[in-house]
Amino acid sequence: MRPDALVIRAMLLVAATAVLSGPSARAQAAPTQNGVVVTFLANEGVMLSSGRSKVLIDALFLKYERGYAVPADSTQAALQNARAPFNTVDVILVTHRHGDHFHPAPVVAHLRANPRATLLTSQQVIDSVRGHLAAGGALTPRLMARTMAPGTRRREVVNGVTVELLGLPHGGSRHRHVEHLGYVVELGGRRVLHVGDTDISETAFAPFRLDTARIDVALLPSWMVLDDDGRRVIQRWIRPRQVVAFHVGEGEGERTAREATAALPDAVTFFRSLDTRRW
Ligand SMILES: [Zn+2]
Repeated sequence: MRPDALVIRAMLLVAATAVLSGPSARAQAAPTQNGVVVTFLANEGVMLSSGRSKVLIDALFLKYERGYAVPADSTQAALQNARAPFNTVDVILVTHRHGDHFHPAPVVAHLRANPRATLLTSQQVIDSVRGHLAAGGALTPRLMARTMAPGTRRREVVNGVTVELLGLPHGGSRHRHVEHLGYVVELGGRRVLHVGDTDISETAFAPFRLDTARIDVALLPSWMVLDDDGRRVIQRWIRPRQVVAFHVGEGEGERTAREATAALPDAVTFFRSLDTRRW
């Protein structure tokens, strides 16, 4: 065999080996790059999961005022008792203390049922949880309070999950005493933004330059998607690959979904509890 033929044969062998070993080698090197699964619950409640990691955001609350949605009783029971698919949750995030996003009773129930979970949220939510604990020493190491001034950000790694906390104020001046956080959660090689009931103004979003942060999925209150100024902020300051509208009133899902699609043709609207998508 001529030397150049030998070289070509060696090159082909290397190429074939690379093709054969490629996917499994990549899977071993980066087992969590397979995307994120988002399961909708009600209002702004979601579970994010990828591989063995699970994160709940604004998912543990009770029936609030009239017109506000709530998951089915069986779903609420599974959430509170940390039963599948809501078992082995690593991190619980709560944007703020309002009753359509949070109630201390199901949060404490979940933390007791699932010793793996850590709660990472505002001081006000932590205080509410502490107030609910009769003699709450055992849970204390799993309660992380973070107060974020508007426009500030902070990165945390909790139980192996990277979360960025964003100082986004609550919308509406009557709620200015409510501590409020946004989150960017990194799971499965994706970045998921959850903005709670944020102020939808440019002033609130501009400091974070999320438009340069490669946001894959932006979970946004439906009124932000339906509002002209809100859409400008989405397109200028967030620029996500996928817009998801949620926080839809009871019985208003179909109509809001139609309006959201008319406003942003690629937007997805979450309004059916347990609707589950992968990105
Ligand atoms: Zn609120």
